[in-house]
Amino acid sequence: DALRQQAVAMPIRKTTSLTGLPPALQLKKLVKRFGDHVVLKQIDMKVAIGEVISIIGPSGSGKTTLIRTINMLEKLNDGEVVLFGEDFIQGHEKPNMKKVRSGMQRIGMVFQSFNLFPHKTALENIMMAARYHGTTKEKEVCRKQALFLLNRVGLLAHANKYPHQLSGGQQQRVAIARTLALSPDIILFDEPTSALDPEMVGEVLKVIQDLAKEGMTLIIVTHEMDFALSVSDRIVMMEHGVIQVDTSPSDIEHADESTPELLRMKRFM
Ligand code: ADP
Repeated sequence: DALRQQAVAMPIRKTTSLTGLPPALQLKKLVKRFGDHVVLKQIDMKVAIGEVISIIGPSGSGKTTLIRTINMLEKLNDGEVVLFGEDFIQGHEKPNMKKVRSGMQRIGMVFQSFNLFPHKTALENIMMAARYHGTTKEKEVCRKQALFLLNRVGLLAHANKYPHQLSGGQQQRVAIARTLALSPDIILFDEPTSALDPEMVGEVLKVIQDLAKEGMTLIIVTHEMDFALSVSDRIVMMEHGVIQVDTSPSDIEHADESTPELLRMKRFM
């Protein structure tokens, strides 16, 4: 309770899709190769502000590479990434580092393997992110915001624990709070629950679902199909480096023999 009193509200971006605004993210003919292997074959995609998109598909189809490319963890070979109507990365040009830096601050990423600093507490992990990349560098403000974010993911009581003292689900929730500390406009999730024991999946999905309800723009690579159906505005299926289907959950739920592609997705799910 002492900690709760110290937590101050950290503004979480709430965005609603407004007509006339550019998409949060637009991918134009993205191409990514590893050697001779073309992993992304001219991917086009638009993500509206506040939209939640799940990316599904068989292993090796390019899902992880796609979101790592959006976040510049992989270098694009060709094509373009446009953020809120402004060019961010262009495959054929040398990156403009100023644009890239400001763009990268707007995109948060949550990994499969939480990637917390092991020698820092949950609170410190979040504070560090806020101090180095977030909107304020003032330590006390960062601490209070970090407490607020820990409370938000239900972990205030664990503020002073180290990662090894937390379960996988708790560590992933800390990792999500850490991403929120950067005040991103878009969050990319790369199979956020696939490293977790089954009994911990639900608590992490609940946190993601809350973000979706608040209007955060989310792109989620996931194998949790019931979750994808319930949380997403759109579900995108990738296969062999292309987007095979881009559809709504209700279209998948109503799929029948007359829509074999969707039926296949439903069965895949
Ligand atoms: P998915 O997330 O759908 O399982 P990935 O994006 O991880 O697929 O991988 C797509 C393809 O790209 C796979 O064939 C994989 O082997 C290859 N790949 C991914 N990362 C690398 C890399 N760093 N170097 C070489 N090949 C890679």
